[in-house]
Amino acid sequence: MEQVREFMINVVDKSVQRLIQNNLKIESFSLTMPIADPNLIWLVDRWMELVLNYGAREIVLSVSTHPHTSKTHYILPQTIFRVKSLSTSSKFCSLQKLYLSKVYISENIIQDIIRNCPNITDFHLWNFLGLKAVRISNLDKLEYLSVGVLECNRELETVHIDAVKLQGFRTYMPNLPAYGISFTSFCNLKQLSLNKCQITDDILHLHLSKFPLLERLQIFNCHMLRRVRIFAQRLRCLRLGGFTMAEVIEIDCPTLSSFVYSASSTPVLISKNVPFAMDIEHRPPRCELISSWFLELREDLRFSYQSKNFALKFVKLAQVSFDLEELGDVQIPPLSEVDDLEITWTAMIESLVCEPLMDGLLWCCHPRTISLPSNVYQYNCIKLLCEKLLGTKTPTCCNSTRIRCWRHDFKGAKIEILGEVEGEWPHGWNHLVDPLPALAKDRGVRFQLEWDY
Ligand SMILES: [Zn+2]
Repeated sequence: MEQVREFMINVVDKSVQRLIQNNLKIESFSLTMPIADPNLIWLVDRWMELVLNYGAREIVLSVSTHPHTSKTHYILPQTIFRVKSLSTSSKFCSLQKLYLSKVYISENIIQDIIRNCPNITDFHLWNFLGLKAVRISNLDKLEYLSVGVLECNRELETVHIDAVKLQGFRTYMPNLPAYGISFTSFCNLKQLSLNKCQITDDILHLHLSKFPLLERLQIFNCHMLRRVRIFAQRLRCLRLGGFTMAEVIEIDCPTLSSFVYSASSTPVLISKNVPFAMDIEHRPPRCELISSWFLELREDLRFSYQSKNFALKFVKLAQVSFDLEELGDVQIPPLSEVDDLEITWTAMIESLVCEPLMDGLLWCCHPRTISLPSNVYQYNCIKLLCEKLLGTKTPTCCNSTRIRCWRHDFKGAKIEILGEVEGEWPHGWNHLVDPLPALAKDRGVRFQLEWDY
C-alpha cells in the first residue's frame, strides 16, 4: 500500500499538477489503478475536476480500492457530471446515436434523454443499474435499440417499449420475468436478438406473430423454451442455441437463407419450406462419447432433407467408443446428406480417441467434404484421416452383419490444403500423404470424399 500511496502522490498527482502549471490543454485522460489507497481516493476526484476544467473530452478510468475484486469501485464525483449531464434544459436535436454502458441511471434521466434528444435513431442502454422500469416511447425516429442488464441486476421489473419505426431490437435480461416485457408498435421490426431472456414458448410465439417483417432472428441461452415454432414468412437468417433446453424446434420459413444452430444439446429439428443449405454447429456436452451418441447424432442430422453443413466443436474428449454391435436391434435411421463436416478441437486429441470418433462420424453421415480448420491440435486427426481415407493403412472392416460400417459406401478421397494451390507442391498433395500431417499442422486441410449411394 505504501507503493500505491507513493504512486498516487508522487507520480500521478505531480504529473497532473505539472500539466496544469504549464497551462497545457488536456484532450484525453486515462488512469488505470487496480489498487488505490481508499484514504487518498479524494485525489482521484481532484484529478477528474482538474482535467475536466482543462478541456478533457475523453476520460478512461479503471480504479478499484480492492485488488482482484470489483466490489469496491471508484464512485464518480456527482458534482462534476451533474452540470454536464443531459438533465439540463438544452435540446440535442442533432444527436442520432447514443450509447450508454455501465452507467447508474434513473428513470428521470431516461425521460430527459427522450425529451431532449428527439432525433435519436440508435439507442444502446447496456449494463446499467438504478432502474426498476425501462420505459421508452415517443422517440419517433428510433430504429435500433439495445437494452441489456448485468447478470447481478435483480432490480429491473418491467420493460415497456413503444417505437413504431423500430427495425432492430437486441436484449439481454437474465432476471426479468417474461411478463415484465411489453412491446407495442413493433410492426416494422426486421432484426431481433434475444439473449438470456426468461421467455416462454407462448410468449415467444405471440411476439413473433406481431413482427411480420422480421428478417433476422437470434435466440440464445433462453432456457425456458421447450417447443419452439419459428414461422416467419420473410426471415432470412436464423441463429439459435447457447444454453438451451429446447426439445423440439420447428422451422417454417420459406425465405430462409442461413440457419446456424449452435449448442451442446440437439433437440429435434423439424423444417418445412426451408430451401437452402443449413449450417449446424454442435458442441458435445460430454467428454465421453459412446455408440448410442452416434446413433442419436445420425437421427438428429436427418431433420432436413436438404443438404447442410455440420460443424462439430470439441472442448475436451477423453474417451470415445463406437461399436456397431453395441447398438443392438434398434432401428437405424437412413443417412442424410451433409455437404461439409467441419471439426475443430480446442485441446489435443489422442489418436486412440480420434479413431472411433471418425469411424462414428463417417457412419452418421457421408459428408462430401471434411474440413479441419487451421489449429495446432489437429495433427493426430489429419494423420488418422490420411490413413483411413487416403489408404496409407490397410482398413479393418466391420464384423457386423446387420449394420454396415461406412467403408461399404466409400469410393475414395482427395486432400487439399486450405489457402494453397496444388500446382505449387511438386508432385501434388496426395504424394505428400506421409509427411502431410506435419507439413499441414498450422494450415487447414479439407478431404473431398466420394461415396457410392
Ligand atoms: Zn464394414
